[in-house]
Parts: sequence; structure tokens; C-alpha cells
Amino acid sequence: MSKFSLLCIALLLFFSCGKTQTPNTNFEPKPEFSIVIHGGAGPIKKGNIPPEIEAKIEAKLEEAIKKGYDILKNGGTSLDAVQQTIMVLEDSPLFNAGKGAVFTNEETNEHDTSIMDGKTLNAGASSGTTIVKNPINLARAVMDNSPHVMLSGKGAETFAKEQGLQIVEPSYFYTERNFKELIWVKENENKNASKKTAYHNEKLKGSKFGTVGCVALDKDGNLAAGTSTGGMTNKRWGRIGDSPIIGSGTYANNNTCAISSTGWGEYFIRAQVAHDISALMDYKGLSLKQASKEVLAKVKTLGGDGGVIAIDKNGNMVFEFNTEGMFRASMNDKGKLIIGMYKE
Ligand code: ASP
Repeated sequence: MSKFSLLCIALLLFFSCGKTQTPNTNFEPKPEFSIVIHGGAGPIKKGNIPPEIEAKIEAKLEEAIKKGYDILKNGGTSLDAVQQTIMVLEDSPLFNAGKGAVFTNEETNEHDTSIMDGKTLNAGASSGTTIVKNPINLARAVMDNSPHVMLSGKGAETFAKEQGLQIVEPSYFYTERNFKELIWVKENENKNASKKTAYHNEKLKGSKFGTVGCVALDKDGNLAAGTSTGGMTNKRWGRIGDSPIIGSGTYANNNTCAISSTGWGEYFIRAQVAHDISALMDYKGLSLKQASKEVLAKVKTLGGDGGVIAIDKNGNMVFEFNTEGMFRASMNDKGKLIIGMYKE
């Protein structure tokens, strides 16, 4: 075989192998760092949201992502960027997390959250807390300062107090909009024959979900992911969704990607969405985009809907959803900001 043929075969092998390894399809240099956020997926259609609310949501998404971007730009860790970006969203009544959490059937607000470090595969999560102002800080404290991964309810609140996290009265989480939505859902679910149908009916779930999430890649090549939510309006019986579940709502692994999910939590748990995306990249060599599409198709087949944000180890960023829309934003190391709400 001539030297030229050998060279052709080598080049062919090089490029075909590259294709299965999460290619940077634009052949752009790997970004030094990048960050993506979501503010929930759902029936977010143009015309459904009043323009002044649309503007407020956009402004808050921009403020939040810039917080994380600055941390990354200054050499901070992806974990800090994820945590602090989510805190900005939790402090806003616009999203279903922290301050803006939706109401349970018992007229309380119960928060679920998680965070994961792609470098160490360490993780922290909490569910069902009612007095922790920024649940994402609790997830981080569970990860950093406890021997556990997931705490719930009163125990999680005791730990939060011991950690010196900011505690608030449950009434801090009251928002008129969310309370009215609960009342409306309760009135209407009783008209429905099946409680299960009522609970999951698109209209009865409310017009926006609003869970928040963030994924980031830092200058050291470390990935992190976090998610925070109030769950679903009218949830009861201590219901826990996917958001605090590592592998469903949140996953990060430096060998593959970082993911934060949003959507109909029961299906995201059953499909193990976040870990499945990572596993498809790891075991099958799919790109982040291909893996995200495949797993969301699985969610759809089961009957669920929602979306994910993700970054792979090469800094490729993905928004993927099978709902009408998803509040989202991304920034690369050049400071290029993309904000979206609706289907493209
Ligand atoms: N996944 C969340 C839950 O099921 C809700 C959402 O993302 O909107 O609790």
C-alpha cells in the first residue's frame, strides 16, 4: 500500500472517530468556558405571555446568566457559577423556584433542588423544605458538608439551620399569582372525573412551569449542573419530582456533559433523563445533541414532556425541548448571549 493510501486511511479514521466523540460541529476552537440556564419548559407560546412579563423574564434571565458568566470569566468554578446563577432566579417571583415556588394542595410551598460536580461526581440535594430561602445553597451544603447526597423535609431544614443558611418565614414564598393558580386548579380538578387526569391536565398544571436550572463549564474544564423548583401546583402527599434526583433532574460528569432538566417530573424520573443523556454519550459515543434528542423522544413516548439544557466537555451547548417553549439563555466565553422562550 502506498504512503498516500495509508495517509488517506489515517485521515478517514481520524475524522470518523471524531464524529462519534461529541464533535464541535462548527470547528470553532473549544470555548474556555460556557454557561446555559433555563427557567422552565411548558406551553410557553407567543401571545400567551403579556409583553411586560416577557420583558421581565428576559431581563432576569440575562441578569442571572451574567452572574455566572462573570464568575467563570474571573476563573471561578462551574459549581459556584451554577449555585449563584440559580440564586438569582430563586430570588425572583417570576420563576417556580425559591421565592416564586408554586403552592401545594395544602397551600404550602415545598422546594426541591440538587447540584452536581462533574469533576468528583459528588452531589447534594434536598426536597420538601419550606423555610430555606435559597434551596440551591442547601443542596451545595449537603454536598460539601454532609456525608449524604439527599436530605428531606424537617431534617433538611435542621441541617440548613446548622449550616447557617438563610431561613425565612413560610409566608416569604407567598405570591398572589401562584396562590390564585392553586385555587383555580383545585376548583377545576373537582369537575374532572379522574384525579390523575386533573392533576396532569395541561391547563390544570398552570400555564408556565418555571423550574430553574444551570449548567456550566469552567476554565479548568470542570462541568457542574444544578436545578431548583417548587414542583407542580397542587402537588400533594409529599410528592417529589425529578429536580432533586441526581440522574433525572441533574447530572454532571467531566467525561461527558452537564444536564439540568425541566418538565413533567414523573416521566423524567422514569426515563432517568439526565444520566441517560450522559450514558448515551459515554457508551454509544453519541453527540450531546443526538443524546438529548433521543432521551427526550423516550420521554415523549412514555407520555411526558419537557426539556433539558446541557453542555458537553468540549463546551458545546444544547437546548432541547418537546414543549411549546422553554425559557432559556446561554453565554460563551466571548460573551455572546442568546436568550430564547419559544420554538425557533
Ligand atoms: N420537573 C419539575 C417537577 O416535576 C417541574 C418543572 O420542571 O416544571 O417537579
